[in-house]
Parts: sequence; structure tokens; C-alpha cells
Amino acid sequence: MIGIAQAFAPTYARARTQFLEAAAAASLPIESHRHPLPGREGEDLAMDVVRDGPPDADKLLIVSSGCHGVEGYCGSGVQVFALHDQEWRDLARAQGVAVLYIHALNPHGFSHIRRATHENVDLNRNFHDFSQPLPVNTAYREVAPLLLPDAWPPQANNVRDVQAWIAGHGAAAWQAAITRGQHEFAGGLFYGGTAPTWSNRTLRAVLRQHGSRAARVGWIDLHTGLGPSGLGERIHCGPDDAAAVQRARQWWAGGGATPVTSLHDGSSSSAFLTGLMWTAIEDECPQAEFTGMTLEYGTQPLEDVLQALRAEHWLHLHPEAPAAQAAQIKAQMLAAFYTDTDAWKGQVISQARQSMFQAVQGLNKS
Ligand SMILES: [Zn+2]
Repeated sequence: MIGIAQAFAPTYARARTQFLEAAAAASLPIESHRHPLPGREGEDLAMDVVRDGPPDADKLLIVSSGCHGVEGYCGSGVQVFALHDQEWRDLARAQGVAVLYIHALNPHGFSHIRRATHENVDLNRNFHDFSQPLPVNTAYREVAPLLLPDAWPPQANNVRDVQAWIAGHGAAAWQAAITRGQHEFAGGLFYGGTAPTWSNRTLRAVLRQHGSRAARVGWIDLHTGLGPSGLGERIHCGPDDAAAVQRARQWWAGGGATPVTSLHDGSSSSAFLTGLMWTAIEDECPQAEFTGMTLEYGTQPLEDVLQALRAEHWLHLHPEAPAAQAAQIKAQMLAAFYTDTDAWKGQVISQARQSMFQAVQGLNKS
């Protein structure tokens, strides 16, 4: 067991070291999938994979971090804490559940304090069949010029135009236009890409290797940036079929104490999305009964999070920005997705830990 605050780290390099050290302390082998580019401090980047449990386990729980890069500061803390948590490890082993920790699905964004991958792609909008026509987000076409003005901070006319758009369409429409994903503006926000990213391809290989022998797969994918501060919204991720949603609610709703929301019925604070990462399970582990959840921790009010995202994308498009402004924008971005207080980290760990225990129970029911 380590202290909660000690499980979290202020940089990707430190977070990775703590994850690898935790795996070594637990005597677990590490598979590192090296990313082609360096990190913000010149460090190596990798998607690191640790399996705690036998290779032939028929019940597998995936716990993953950093799908959205910068959100990994939270998820890594959960994974490091779990690897040091003997009670948790003993329980999973006793129930015959192998736990697969995937650290930094998008290590480049994690290190560089970006939500997107090095291809500027939102990994959780990137799992499409790219041989088919991609969804068109016509609302994003409208808001694109408003989101990324030439100057940052935005000038008065941009502020006025944004307010007018929100007044005319509503805040929910603004959120949906920006966040649902788009495939037309390669430099824009929530860009889903036109081909599988490095993280997409690497994750698929990991799932084939580790998931092909499992009859049942559970997945807790750790995210931040939506909802009330410190609250982990449990968002079902999986197909829009009643049995899958019901199973997620049986596992994780705590009899109603901790509701499981869904993108399919509008109950989630997230907009409806396509190209989601969980669909890789259907492709790579078609034999498995899949039950998945996005655990989405709130940080700051949504308008502040969206403003941080706009600023960081503006910076991405304007590398000539002064160093002081770049540093300020990166700090704003990190604060939007990671609340560096003991209280928030305590809430993160307790809710994640509870959902992991629940997942083991759920996997072990016949
Ligand atoms: Zn996310």
C-alpha cells in the first residue's frame, strides 16, 4: 500500500517511472510499446502494459489510462495505487480474474499535456471503419472559425460571436458541436482522423494478445474533464443493446447509489459520440462477452475545460507563441484535466477502487 498522494505524479516521465516501479515491486512483467516520438522533456514514450494474472484466465478486467493524453495524470494514479494495493490484488486473484493495466494509451498527449495524439487525433473518436464514409458533423463546420481565432486570448469580436452562437443554439448544442467528433478539420478540436492512429493500432495488438482467450472482458477506462468536481460519472461503454447496458448497471450502479449513465439514452453528461475505443473489443476479441465503463471524473466547469482546449489547440497551431504564454496555456490545460489536491485524488481513488471491486464480482458471476 502506498499513500494516495504518492500514487500521482506531476509529469509523464515521473508517472511512467512510478508505474514501472509498482509493476516491478509486484513482480509483474512489463511490456512496453515504444512510441516513435520523444516526450516533452525528451524522454522515451510508450504504451506500457502489465498483466496481473495468468495468461489463460477466462475473465479479464482492463484498467486503462491516458486515452486522452493529459487525462492520464489521473488514470495513472489509479493504476499505480492498484498495483500497490495487496487487498485488491489478492481479491482479483482469488476470483480468477486477470487484470490488464494499460498505462498511457496516448503517451504523447500525456507527456505534452494535450488531449489529442501526436496526429492531433482524439483517440476516442478514431475507431471507425475507414473504408466506409465517415460521419459528418455539420455543426462543427459552423463553430470551427469561432473556436480557433487568429489571436489568443480571443478578441472582443470573437467573444461576442461565441456568446451569440450559444445564445442562439444553447449550451448543449455548443458542447455537442465541439465534442462529438469531426473528420474534416485536421488541425481542429476533437478531430477523429482519417486513418487509425499509432495508439489505435498498438491498442488493437494488445487486445488481441491479451483478450483472445477470455470468455468475459470488463473494461474501466479512466477519463477526466466532464461533470462535477471529484465525481466519477460511470458511463456505460458498449453496444446499444439492453443486455449489455443492464449488465453494466448490475455491476456498477450500486443498486442506484452510483448511477450508470449511457450515451444512447441521453442520460450522460457526454454528448452522443461515434468512433469510440471500446469498439476495438468487438473487432479484436469477438468471442468475449464485453462489459465496459468510462469512469469520467469532473474537474472544472465545462466552459473552463472547453476554453482550455481552445487555448491549447490555438497554441498547437501557433508554435511561435511566446514561451511565457505557452507555459501559461499548458498550465491551464493541465488544471482543466487534473485537480492537484489531496481531496480530489482521494475521491478519484475511492471511486475507482470501488468500481474495480465491483467489476471483479461482476466478472465472476456465472
Ligand atoms: Zn477523456
